[in-house]
Parts: sequence; structure tokens; C-alpha cells
Amino acid sequence: MTKRGPQPGQSPEQRAQELKRRHVEARRRQTRRRRTWVAVGATAIVLAVVAGVLTARALGPWGSGRGPAASAATRPAASSSAASASAGEAASPATQSEPKPTFVVGRALGDVRALEDIGVRRAGGGAEKRGAASISRRLVAAGAKPETRTFRLPNGKTSRNVVARFPGSTRKTIILGAHMDSKAPSPGANDNGSGCGALLEIARCLGQRHAYPTVELVFFGAEEMIDADPDHHHFGSRYYVKDMSAGARKNAAGMISVDMIGYGPHFVVRTMGNGPQSLRRLLMRQARERGIHLSYLRDPGESGWSDHEAFELAGIPAAWIEWRDDPVYHTSADTSGHLVAAKVRIAGQFVLGVLYGMDAAALERLAR
Ligand SMILES: [Zn+2]
Repeated sequence: MTKRGPQPGQSPEQRAQELKRRHVEARRRQTRRRRTWVAVGATAIVLAVVAGVLTARALGPWGSGRGPAASAATRPAASSSAASASAGEAASPATQSEPKPTFVVGRALGDVRALEDIGVRRAGGGAEKRGAASISRRLVAAGAKPETRTFRLPNGKTSRNVVARFPGSTRKTIILGAHMDSKAPSPGANDNGSGCGALLEIARCLGQRHAYPTVELVFFGAEEMIDADPDHHHFGSRYYVKDMSAGARKNAAGMISVDMIGYGPHFVVRTMGNGPQSLRRLLMRQARERGIHLSYLRDPGESGWSDHEAFELAGIPAAWIEWRDDPVYHTSADTSGHLVAAKVRIAGQFVLGVLYGMDAAALERLAR
């Protein structure tokens, strides 16, 4: 070991110089240490800010996760190995080993506000078309390959459905539907931005991990009445069912319309009551098992009150889930401000849980 210090035989000048040299060296060491700590501190602050921003985007508050950019930042990029796919099919493989994603209501509400900002989305109008484009972009960000299918309304206008398919482990398919149009003068936050937002959040979850059944998300155009004729509604869903191939009909295990899930004290499942009721029974059983109070309400009158109608009439197990009553639906007060986030979350997580919980036996039971 070597001790530093004045060596025997040094002159006073040499000793003074040696002391000065040691002093300068000590100062330099101190400065270096200080710089290191400043650098470490600054790095820590930058990391904390980045983590904070990412967490805020992932969780929320109400609408902070808006837009494809936000969701892309919180989600691993979809790989393309499962791009088997006919048009409209998702590219994401999403292996079963991934943990089941959770329904993030803040992101769904961001989608609702994007539709609300477009304004009243009359069937066959420009705003409905812009709503469809916005939904398509968000589906692409979720890893899907959405397809837009146009159809003619009796008044000569053109409306459209946006369809995105998430292949599962079987060709048996659960169809989830939500209509994009709104009834003037309503900007349609609850009716039915809420259903569209829930389906988009479910798309983001399915982009991360697929369900056992294949899931087809359909954003319907022209659900609302377009004139005084009481039968002039549900055009998107009627067109979709009419357009189904024999194979698609055979594989359609069930259809759930998600329509108005953002407001009201009563959580209900509704059908016309004249088609197969197996999906309604499955939903009620699943709700009971999860401690959710879900009651049954039959649509009054001859026609269904949402997009499940055409499916039920075609003999496909179909049901509509809804929170009710919303006193401001079809009015200009149907804005995102009156939505109750917890309602959207309960309904969205419920549907997602039903999809992820569905196995071959459950699909078999639906067919009976
Ligand atoms: Zn509606």
C-alpha cells in the first residue's frame, strides 16, 4: 500500500505545491461526483415523467386515452403471422398464453367522444360516413383489417357497415354489433356511441389475445328510423343478415347487439322472444355467476328494438344488452357528459368476459 502525502526531503515550496495539487485534485473529484449525481437525478426525473405519461394514457381519466396513437403506445404491436384472413380479418395472432386483457373504460369513452365530436350522424349522411371512417382507423390501430360494406336506403342515400373479424380457435363466430348512426338532434353519445366505444375497446383486447370463438365486430349504419314509416329502421343489420353466405349463417353461433350502455339503473338483456333464446339464457347465467344483476325484457310489439332483430328473425341466437332508461336519448342532451363510466365498464367487461369464457361446450349449448 502507498500512502499519499509529503515525502521526506521535500522543500517547503515543494510541499506547498504538493498541497495545492492535492487540493485541486480533491475539487475535481467533488465536481465529477456532483455531475454524476445531477445526471442520475435528471435521468430518474425523465423516466418518471415518461412512466407517468404512459400510465395516464393507459388508464385514463375519461377520454385521455383517445385515439389510435394513445392505444398504440400502450399496446404491443400486432404481429402479422396470423394474417390468414379474408378481408376484414384481424392480423393479430394473440396467443392464448397472453393474460386476458381488461376492458379499459377510459379508452372506450375516448372513442365515444370522437363520435360525439363528429355530431349528429344521420343514416346515410356525411357525418355517419365520417363516423365510420373514424371507427375504421381505430380498428386498424387495434390490429384489425376492417372492411366497409355499403348499402342503399329507400330514400336513395348510401349507408355502410364496418366489419372487423378476429379469428379464434374455431370458425364458430360470435357477432357483436353496435350502430354508428344517431337520431337528430342527438349527437348520440349513449345512443349509440357507448356501444361503438365498447366494441372498439373489445377490439383492442382481442388484438392482444383472441377468444376461443371467432369474433366479428359489426358497426352498423342506419339503425335509427329514417322517416315516418315505422319499419324504416335497422337497415345495416338487415342488410348484413341478408348478405350472409350459407357458410357464415352456419358458423354464426350468436349475435349480441350492444346499444345504449352508458346510463340508467337497470341492466337488461332483450330479445323479440320469437327466435332461439339460448344466447339470452347464457348471458343471464354468466351475469349471475359474476354477481351482476341482469334482467330480461321482451321487446314490445312486432319488431325488435335494436339490431338483434334481423338475426333473431333469421334463427340465429341473438340478444341486445342495454342499461335503461335514459331520459335524454334521441335529444341534443345525449352527450358524453351525461354518461356514467361505471355503466359502460360493467357492460363492456361483461361482454368481454363472456367472449373469453366461451369454449366449445358453450358454443355447442348455444346451438341447441
Ligand atoms: Zn340505439
